Amino acid sequence: MHFDSSVLPQRPAWIEIDLARLRRNLQLIRADLPKPVQLLAVVKDDAYGHGAIDAAQVALEEGATFLGVSTLDEAVSLRDAGIKARILLLGERQESELPWCVAYDLTVCLNNVHTAVKLSRVAAGFERRVPVHVKINSGMTRYGVRWDEAFPLLEAIGNEPWLQLEGAMTHFSQSDEEVKDFAMLQMSRFDEVLTLAKHHRVAVPMQHLCNSGGFLDLPQAHRDMVRVGILMYGIFPSQVCRRLEGIQPVMAIKARIAALQRLLPGEHVGYGMRYTATAPRRIAVLPIGYGDGFPRVRNQGYALLHGKRAPILGGIAMDALMVDVTDIPEAQMWDEAVLMGEQGNEVITARDMAQLKNSVTYDVLTGWRLRLRRKCVNGKAGQ
Ligand SMILES: *Cc1c(COP(=O)(O)O)cnc(C)c1O
Repeated sequence: MHFDSSVLPQRPAWIEIDLARLRRNLQLIRADLPKPVQLLAVVKDDAYGHGAIDAAQVALEEGATFLGVSTLDEAVSLRDAGIKARILLLGERQESELPWCVAYDLTVCLNNVHTAVKLSRVAAGFERRVPVHVKINSGMTRYGVRWDEAFPLLEAIGNEPWLQLEGAMTHFSQSDEEVKDFAMLQMSRFDEVLTLAKHHRVAVPMQHLCNSGGFLDLPQAHRDMVRVGILMYGIFPSQVCRRLEGIQPVMAIKARIAALQRLLPGEHVGYGMRYTATAPRRIAVLPIGYGDGFPRVRNQGYALLHGKRAPILGGIAMDALMVDVTDIPEAQMWDEAVLMGEQGNEVITARDMAQLKNSVTYDVLTGWRLRLRRKCVNGKAGQ
């Protein structure tokens, strides 16, 4: 037998990425979007845990014209994988990163004049005129120049010979809730800046404001491009935003039964003996725990086995969790369980997981750790 670490047997717990669903979601988003509006696929944080390279390739095949990432590292990994599409780096860049941005043809968001001047100098060194986008803080108070101080930055960039002011953007702090008052205020602040720019003949070819919530619910803010993240992964940003028929979650979490145990009345399950049986029980052990990103709950939550709900008993361990399969006698060693996703007619959603975690779906998707390997099913990027 030849032992090669690249062909290790697969661990019986994994993240499943359905590329056909990802593709379909992107098709639905693209089809819902007016033709002239460009689609920027947000693939930061390893495409919300889905694998940035595959997600980026599928998104580009389905009509995205820009990719959005957060860190230089994320952007360079995409380039190293051979991706040539436009990449917008969200956030703020350290000075030391700027030469890399120019060398790797990455588009920087500028938040201040200082970085603009530095970038212009770097671009001059490369003798390359680089496109940039200005991030305007219209009320989110994260990155960006304040809307009421933004015009001088636009003007300064306009005067830098090695910078091309390609776009202006802002980010909504409330786009997927029923009340859109604050989003409207942000939009009007953004428009104030652009009106001023127009008045002074500072050209801003692209405007973009929308995340998934804005894409769904604020068509008046679509402008030249929308930046869609969570929706392409099949999760709606909120309970109340518009539904796009046919969107399906791309990620599932699965594990196989790695042990079966008998439990007699009065016996316990797990650390701290947090579950005590009152009747005989049959227990299945799934080899996935908080070390894989599973929320550290006790006697809460379910796994799906044979299309039925098996309640979690006791506390979650680092590498394992225990479920009650007393009512699922057909459950046997190495049967496939679903911790997040669908099986038969049952489903555990990212939102269900978010409730267990006392958090949001975004955190659930990105919270799985890569000790759980990703397995792509239903097609490949490049098809
Ligand atoms: C993450 C991010 C998005 C995508 O948000 P979703 O709600 O996942 O669609 C869009 N724009 C910016 C600036 C972001 O940081």
